[in-house]
This record gives sequence, C-alpha cells and structure tokens, in this order.
Amino acid sequence: MSVSGLPAVVPAPGDQLPARVRIYEVGPRDGLQNEQTAVPTEVKREFVRRLLAAGAPMVEATSFVHPSWVPQLADAAELMALLGDDLGEAARDLPVLVPNRRGLDRALELGCRHIAIFGSATETFAGKNLNSTLEGQFEMFAPTVATARQAGLDVRAYLSMCFGDPWEGRVPIDQVVAVGRRLLDLGAWQLSLGDTIGVGTPGHVTALVGAFAEAGVPADRLALHFHDTYGQALANAYAGLQAGVTTYDASAGGLGGCPYAKSATGNLATEDLAWMLTGLGIEHGLDLDALVRTSGWMAERLGRPSPSAVVRALTGAR
Ligand code: MG
Repeated sequence: MSVSGLPAVVPAPGDQLPARVRIYEVGPRDGLQNEQTAVPTEVKREFVRRLLAAGAPMVEATSFVHPSWVPQLADAAELMALLGDDLGEAARDLPVLVPNRRGLDRALELGCRHIAIFGSATETFAGKNLNSTLEGQFEMFAPTVATARQAGLDVRAYLSMCFGDPWEGRVPIDQVVAVGRRLLDLGAWQLSLGDTIGVGTPGHVTALVGAFAEAGVPADRLALHFHDTYGQALANAYAGLQAGVTTYDASAGGLGGCPYAKSATGNLATEDLAWMLTGLGIEHGLDLDALVRTSGWMAERLGRPSPSAVVRALTGAR
C-alpha cells in the first residue's frame, strides 16, 4: 500500500489491456439480496447515493422479483421512488433486475430505462432459480425482453453458472455459448457471464471468452461477474482484461452471493477490482477513497466487517 491509499501505477509490460473499463456495481441488489435481515430502505437509498457520488457509472439498484422469493428486496418500488426524489430523472437510469412480465410492468410504471434479466447456463439451476428448464427459459424471457425493447428499454442478460454448477459440476463451454447467444438474440445488449459459485480459473475465462468470439459474440458484448469463493476473482478478471472484456460486475465491499446457490459467497469486491485496475493504469472512474468509506459505513450498518481485502487494509478492520 502506498501512503496515499492507492497502489503504484505500473502497467503490465507486454500485455495489451484495455485503457478503461466500466464497473457495473451490483452491491445494492446482488449484495443485499442475500442479507439475513432486510436492510432498511433508507440505508439502501443512502448506499446507492454514496456509490453514485463515488463515481459508479452503473448501479443496479434493486430487483422486481416477487417479494416471496427475495423478501430482502420487497421494498423495490419504495426505494426507486425515494431515489427519484434524490436524483430526479437520473434515477430512471439505474438498472433494475426483472424476472418476468409482471416485474417488467412494475419497472415500466416507475419509468425505469434499464432492466436486467437472469438466465441459467444449466438445467438444474434453471429449475431451482427460474422454476423453468434450460430450454423453457427462452420462452419465458422472450415476451419480457420484447416488451421492454418496444418500450425503448435497454436489456442486460445475466447468465448464471457459466463455469461450474454445484449440482452438475463443470459446465461445458459450448453449452454456455449456446445459451448466451440465445439470450443476446432475444434482444439483450450485453451478456454478463456469472461464475456464480466462484470455481472458475483464468484459463477457463480465456477459453470461454474466446469461444464466444468464435461464435460471433465479441468481447464488447460481454461482461464478467466473478465471485471470490476460491480466491480466483481478481485473477479471473485479469484474464478477462487480456481477452478484451471491458465491463466487470462488482459489489462494493464484496457484499453478497446468491440466495439459491448454497456455496456461492463473496461477489468480487469493487474496491479490490478498482485497486488492481488503478495499479495497472486502467481508467475506471471510481474514487477509491470514497468507495472504501462507503463500504466501511455499510459494514457498520450490517454489523460485520467487509470481506473486501482492500476495504479491510485501508480501514484497519480485522
Ligand atoms: Mg453475484
């Protein structure tokens, strides 16, 4: 650590890495949906505000899944209304997760301009998380995506279990590419490849991104969503940079996991990613200091230290 709390900038000699990346912040949604007790709406509101103030370009604010599935985010409409009070028109640019037509209707009522859907790369997880099948999910998402596109909304598609699945083991790359392409073909502008249980390793990332390129999906249509369960998230992000991917999902303070995947813990922490990017001389637009203060504040609200190594290092948390 340097005395300023920022790493020395030393670009990687010989590696052709992107000059800038976009960090898609998932803390308020992916992070908080896993909390044992619901976080007060006012705290969520402040969390989103602070993340934006720290320079986060995209903050996924909440999810319009049915409250009985994810009670932690049952206050989605209330939160979006409060953020509308704070941010005005700009609140409509905060992406929200939408599982189906009903969720989309709620998002449309509030004037949301960016939605995300979440698909599964495996049969078992499609059953458990979507109550569908690998094949059935496309039929399920098609009317949602079509209606959203007709209304002028941007649709992002998450794809879960792109590397390993707790029930099926290693997920074949061809299968991930086939499912991912079909989600993009429905009308999504970006596909976020999730390592939901964190078992991926860098060579796997290189192979997967390469397979998408061979199938006609360039790296600029992809985002990468890593979990640090096995300590591989940053190494995997580096492999993604080498492969030309410029959008990375990350969660401030490393909050969250997945409520339906038992072994899924630890989203890649935004601070850990930002530290590496800063050191590599790659622009990301975030104020690391403000971000660390935000995650320190959130850790106090949640009553436990942040799992982010950078947050702990910079705040002296144990
Ligand atoms: Mg996640």
